[in-house]
Amino acid sequence: MFSFNLPMFLAIEENITNDLISKLDKEFKDIANKKIIILTSKGIYEKFKKGIDSLIKEYRKISIYFVEDSSYDIAVNVAKKISIEEFEIVIGFGGGKVLDTAKYASYVSKKKYVSIPTTLSNDGVASPIAVLKTFEGKAKSFGCNSPDGIIIDTNIIKNAPNILLMAGIGDTVSNYTALFDWKLESKHKGIHPNDFAYLLSDTALNMLLYSREEHIRNGNFIKQLAQSLVLSGLAMDIAGNSRPCSGSEHLFSHSLDEHYNINKPHGLKVALGSIASCIFQGRSYEPIVTFLKRYDVDVSPEKLGISKEIFIDTWMKAQATRPDRFSVLNTIELSKDYLEKIYEEIMEVLK
Ligand SMILES: [Zn+2]
Repeated sequence: MFSFNLPMFLAIEENITNDLISKLDKEFKDIANKKIIILTSKGIYEKFKKGIDSLIKEYRKISIYFVEDSSYDIAVNVAKKISIEEFEIVIGFGGGKVLDTAKYASYVSKKKYVSIPTTLSNDGVASPIAVLKTFEGKAKSFGCNSPDGIIIDTNIIKNAPNILLMAGIGDTVSNYTALFDWKLESKHKGIHPNDFAYLLSDTALNMLLYSREEHIRNGNFIKQLAQSLVLSGLAMDIAGNSRPCSGSEHLFSHSLDEHYNINKPHGLKVALGSIASCIFQGRSYEPIVTFLKRYDVDVSPEKLGISKEIFIDTWMKAQATRPDRFSVLNTIELSKDYLEKIYEEIMEVLK
């Protein structure tokens, strides 16, 4: 028997944060008398200073705390503060670093958590996983709970940098190869993948793949991207692990993070991984390449600063990053020559 903890509420609307307190009051009751901590970064605070300041002025029980990095130590320290000062609700307002810290800190301190992203760069918006730095700055995924509430203001997201929205698209594309690998693993272990988790992840992918919206900044497209990333997060919650959205393409990204310092968004690295994984899986990468090109999402190794040598070495070490994970990498023999050919092919295709 397994259990999951789906969010209590979800709102994806234009300007919904203008009316944040009344939205929260509907969900938590008597919000004005609850001690709330807003975790954000200084950069985000400067951008939304007027709104945040007037909120703090009007509701004396709201405090603000700045999170500038997302390490395990910082998250646990924030949890300590939340417990000692008896905050009842944690709000994460920002990008991935802020949200992952807030998610884990609220999980450790066992408090309600509301996620308000300012960008949509990966499926962490709704997932029960927090990515935090550990020793020597190495990132690790920690299981926790999905947020209790998710509020996505499409007007705020519209102002996010293009590259982060493109990364969000890339993380959704990775479901294409992740689902294939999940099926392979299930077959290998003689178990059946959770049908509903599979359905949600597949729907998240198809929503974007077959979207009619042409522009990344179109309000409808942003809404679809938000819905898609939330569905991916819920898929992981129902599955009880990240398999519906994380296969060999994520192992490539983990390996890159472990061995090389490629400072590019996660979603772009996994999308490049997905194109190679399609080849390993014996499938056509055409649908995802066409899709990425439609929104000008460039994941060419050149653009990401990944040389041929790094590409080959990263794939050679990918399986070792999560030895317990079965994927297409367990079924093929990777050689330098083979990976070199794949690298050349991808460079050509993404020209
Ligand atoms: Zn991902």
